[in-house]
Amino acid sequence: MDVLIVDDDAVTRFALCSALEEWGFIPVVAENADQALEKLATETTPHLLIIDWSMPGMSGPDLCKHIREREDGQFFYILMLTGKEGNEAIIEAMEAGADDFLSKPFDHRVLKVRIAAGSRIVRLEQTLNQLASRDALTQCWNRRMIDELFANSIAESTRKHSIFSLMVIDIDHFKAVNDTYGHAAGDNALKHVVNILNINLREYDQVGRYGGEEFVVLLPATDQNEAWGVAERIRSAIQFQPTILGDDRKIDLTVSIGIAEFDRNRDANQSAFFERADKALYTAKQTGRNRIVSSD
Ligand code: GH3
Ligand code: MG
Ligand code: MG
Repeated sequence: MDVLIVDDDAVTRFALCSALEEWGFIPVVAENADQALEKLATETTPHLLIIDWSMPGMSGPDLCKHIREREDGQFFYILMLTGKEGNEAIIEAMEAGADDFLSKPFDHRVLKVRIAAGSRIVRLEQTLNQLASRDALTQCWNRRMIDELFANSIAESTRKHSIFSLMVIDIDHFKAVNDTYGHAAGDNALKHVVNILNINLREYDQVGRYGGEEFVVLLPATDQNEAWGVAERIRSAIQFQPTILGDDRKIDLTVSIGIAEFDRNRDANQSAFFERADKALYTAKQTGRNRIVSSD
């Protein structure tokens, strides 16, 4: 687990780095609040922070307040490590948003157990986050999360005038799979389909399970034609790569896919846009399944 050390004193930074490494953490270092905020804006942002009180520029408590104000769904565990001591300092630090407080010079064993306690909370928070946002069977985004990402994509596309496409995928005659092979085999087939989606999509595309055997894919920076190409790759991969069951039986599947490209002049809101892709999917089902239809 990454731990961000924010301290203007090189000797303290060095001591903390070597202690954290010894305890199995990966130290990330910032010399002041500005550098700390830069590290927190990266994709691999540390969630466990050790922050000094007095630093040139923004102070430790002010940095805490700043982080808490713009937390935006992310969780940070903050330990204030400071030359100050006494109840007033503890109260000020924790009112500013710190989770824990330790005075310098610190006892290494005390710091070790405090960091261990903090890392337990960070891990617990990560587990909760995972449970709240992922589909338990396939591990792709669940409906709540994909809806949130979908709303963000629309907001971004509206703001930046960027293109973005949506794919709604539904497995054909999936009820028959359950009836023929059993529900457990059906579950394996759903996992297999999500694997194929992940293999055939780019890193910044997002897959969510919308219903039982229905999936939504967000394709940023993709127009309808490119989306068609992606959909065709997926359609064909699913048709030609059956799910292999443990007893060597295989399940052949096909999918129907509806596609739409976001058009801010036409789509009044998220559900209007979704409706267009869903209608295209319906047409794909009506006209024989195992096919892709773009919204006109
Ligand atoms: P269509 O081609 O029109 O989409 O037909 P379909 O049979 O795929 O569609 P329908 O909506 O009638 O049936 C969906 C089936 O998906 C019914 C349900 O039992 C099954 N299903 C939904 N969720 C799960 C799941 O988590 N696991 C398994 N094994 N089956 C599921
Ligand atoms: Mg279906
Ligand atoms: Mg369905």
